[in-house]
Amino acid sequence: MNYDIVFIPGDGVGPEVSEAAKRCVEATGVTINWHIAEAGADAMEKYKTPLPDSTLDLINKYKIALKGPVTTPVGEGFRSVNVKIRKELNLYACVRPCKLYKGVKSHYSAVDLIVIRENTEDLYAGIEFPVHSTETKSLIDYIHKLNGEQIRSDSGISIKPISEYGSSKIIDFAFKYAIKNKRKKITAVHKANIMKFSDGLFLETYRKIAKDYKDKIEFTDRIVDNMSMQLVQKPELYDVLVLPNLYGDIISDLCAGLVGGLGVTPGANIGDDIAVFEATHGSAPKYAGKNKVNPSAMILSSMLMLRYIGEDKAANNLENAVSEVIQEGKNVTYDLKLNRDDPSAVGTSQMADAIIRQITEDR
Ligand code: NAD
Repeated sequence: MNYDIVFIPGDGVGPEVSEAAKRCVEATGVTINWHIAEAGADAMEKYKTPLPDSTLDLINKYKIALKGPVTTPVGEGFRSVNVKIRKELNLYACVRPCKLYKGVKSHYSAVDLIVIRENTEDLYAGIEFPVHSTETKSLIDYIHKLNGEQIRSDSGISIKPISEYGSSKIIDFAFKYAIKNKRKKITAVHKANIMKFSDGLFLETYRKIAKDYKDKIEFTDRIVDNMSMQLVQKPELYDVLVLPNLYGDIISDLCAGLVGGLGVTPGANIGDDIAVFEATHGSAPKYAGKNKVNPSAMILSSMLMLRYIGEDKAANNLENAVSEVIQEGKNVTYDLKLNRDDPSAVGTSQMADAIIRQITEDR
């Protein structure tokens, strides 16, 4: 079967790592018609926007994209390209598997977590009121009239909306994802003891939905502060985590830290019928064009893409190849060496070459 997939190289180290991922996917033997789309610094020069409509149109048309990281221009009035893609395409689920591959430096021996984060609501909804503005003053007066609470007059305010709809979507997605991927347990993370009407609603929705899946998978929940401690002390007790946006952002970085950091953690942003696969890390501008950074996060993101389209054999082949190259520890980038200055570290494309050799050997 031939697949149509949008390919967004990105900027900074984006083109180097996404090209490495593209080559690895091709080595698995899956046939893909890549539709190249622009985003980031180059698009900015050409279209005066870092995210041209033509790119969104292509993703809408073909439904799947492999995307390299993109720099967010500072102070030029543009919101993040990544946030815009997620919003415009309603990619409500951010999926970040954090698995410890043998050979990666870590304080742990066995970690295999999947963090599923809600992507559209919560304190990240972007509903904010600055200190001393007329709107903020009206809001403070309104809240005082409504329930007697007096917010300090010199406050800035960020609103935390969590809906039944948004919670149902992400929680149902998480259960389905966990079952499809043969996982054993799902844990909802919240602070419902304090934020009763936002996190409380998330937890209530979770418990309702969990009833539909109770014969298929074990489920539990944890308060976010306790979860943070438990993940550091005994991450092996956890499996799939589902979280509202803010906790999801923080806990997914914590989990990336447990398994060796940004160079090895893949990701996907998924909606009802569109999915964009991308590494967790950003465009690492200081390494741009240096053939230096680890391509594994991006290559493993393309492995998630192969699973998403149902090419499990190719996905397994790709994941095993990455794992074997990392475990061997020879053809790996600086960040995977015991000493970061190790002169035997190879570049981005050489590590990809080693992974491709392994893919071909195992096929
Ligand atoms: P970053 O992830 O780009 O880099 C931070 C540091 O992490 C790097 O300097 C490097 O030391 C290390 N690192 C990152 N990726 C690595 C890899 N593959 N291998 C080895 N080391 C790696 O984070 P940042 O500097 O905060 O962000 C740079 C730009 O990227 C910003 O404009 C930010 O908005 C953007 N960004 C984009 C995405 C995305 O496109 N999805 C995600 C995060 C940040």
